[in-house]
Amino acid sequence: MIYIKTDEEVEIQRQSSLLVGKTLAEVAKIIKPGVTTIELDKVAETFIRDNGAKPGFKGYGGFPATLCISVNDEVVHGIPGKRELKNGDIVSVDCGTFMNGFYGDSAYTFAVGEVKESVLMLLQRTKESLYLAIEQAIVGKRVGDIGHAVQKYVEGFGYSVVRDLVGHGVGRNLHEKPEIPNYGRRGSGIKLKSGMCLAIEPMINLGVKEVIQDSDGWTIRTVDKQPSAHFEHDVVVRNGKADILSTFEYIEQVLNKK
Ligand code: MG
Ligand code: MG
Repeated sequence: MIYIKTDEEVEIQRQSSLLVGKTLAEVAKIIKPGVTTIELDKVAETFIRDNGAKPGFKGYGGFPATLCISVNDEVVHGIPGKRELKNGDIVSVDCGTFMNGFYGDSAYTFAVGEVKESVLMLLQRTKESLYLAIEQAIVGKRVGDIGHAVQKYVEGFGYSVVRDLVGHGVGRNLHEKPEIPNYGRRGSGIKLKSGMCLAIEPMINLGVKEVIQDSDGWTIRTVDKQPSAHFEHDVVVRNGKADILSTFEYIEQVLNKK
């Protein structure tokens, strides 16, 4: 079933989603060449717990960490560890929180030091595709309109849309119905209704769309080893304009000061 959240539930959910944005800003402060991905994870876990919440991903399906950290050709679900970030890397950081019964889920892809212009453009356009998708998350549109908006935009630059992983409903469960693919036909799929909370999350590859899972059972990477970007917001479907529950504001304040 697809849950329709009450206004009260949406406000509780908003607190979880905002905390993800604040946590990602703490992570943004320490992203630089030489930092290990497990250090980023520790900062995030401490910050989430200090704010009275729990990491949403830790233990979910057996995932061992607070953050999914995916570097360069890793698309999503990378496990934090001893890997040091290098100048020129990109790093996708996906974070979940659980507070007062609701999950927040948001992701941002960061540039580490000096990154190639073509890869910076991939990041920028993937983020732009997320906002184009959110414009479609309104009453009267359908799930296919969201995916179509992403696909049409990014394929125009020769990028490809990952098919194997999709966005989702979010709320009392980290993953709820409906699935939100980042590809699709305009006017297809279920109709969107006010109060549906969706995690919209384009995963866009510089090269081909195909991905494979590592032997660690988690990390998803591109088959052609080209970079991939990932941005995610939690939104609630409304009339005329979606309400974005998560935020990149705190992250971008940090990045603008760097
Ligand atoms: Mg996520
Ligand atoms: Mg998600």
